[in-house]
Amino acid sequence: MVAWLNGLVTQPSAHLKNILSEIHRRHQSGQKSLVVFDLDSTLFDVSPRIQKILQDFSQDKTHRAQFPESCQILESIEMWKQDWGFKDALARAGLGDHHPDFHLAVKNFWSKTFFTNEYLEYDMPYDGACEYVQAVQAAGADISYLTGRDIPRMGPGSLSVLKKWKFPVGEEQAQLVLKPQKEMDDAQFKVDYFSPALKKQFSKIWFFENEPVNIDLVRKVHPDIEVVFFDSTHSGLSQAPLDLPTIMHYLLEE
Ligand SMILES: [Mg+2]
Repeated sequence: MVAWLNGLVTQPSAHLKNILSEIHRRHQSGQKSLVVFDLDSTLFDVSPRIQKILQDFSQDKTHRAQFPESCQILESIEMWKQDWGFKDALARAGLGDHHPDFHLAVKNFWSKTFFTNEYLEYDMPYDGACEYVQAVQAAGADISYLTGRDIPRMGPGSLSVLKKWKFPVGEEQAQLVLKPQKEMDDAQFKVDYFSPALKKQFSKIWFFENEPVNIDLVRKVHPDIEVVFFDSTHSGLSQAPLDLPTIMHYLLEE
């Protein structure tokens, strides 16, 4: 995997280091930088969250009575990091063309649980993520975690998981930014976050994101922001960008 940087092919680790150097250089000359990270599938692998949800579905008495064989299979289901949602994992387990009642029940349970504080603790940071964000702060940049999660359902859980993994958060220079209401469009929310007032404070802004829909809109409205594509998994509603620096981890040595 390579990253593109100013037309040159570079390793992801080299690109990550270049960003740190540039932050440091700007900091030394009194210029402020901001590095903005998405959470789901950018800093955190959410597949363990989904796996736990499917296992809890299988342990529910009502579900076991209604779908005994499928629940038994779900008990040992394995998510892959590149899975988007739960459908691929069900298909691999032989539950792909299963009856619609089962799929609907799983979908309803997933919808009730995935967007909750309670299940966020199962998320795992990608390799090197905590250390890299700490290094970004140490180099002198401000940090924002900009997420499509919403405050009412996922605010406290998001904060506590960031703290648990020792991501810098909860101070003016490291802010967690969630949607006030769940109904808001993720891409528009992220575009609006980069307001003229915010942009005026910083000489340079980087934005790490996995979802091409969000990347497309941010690039269109804010061409001055440098986007880094985190190539994990995404909705498939838009094509993955081919002309951006691309990383799959945050390790500075490969
Ligand atoms: Mg994401």
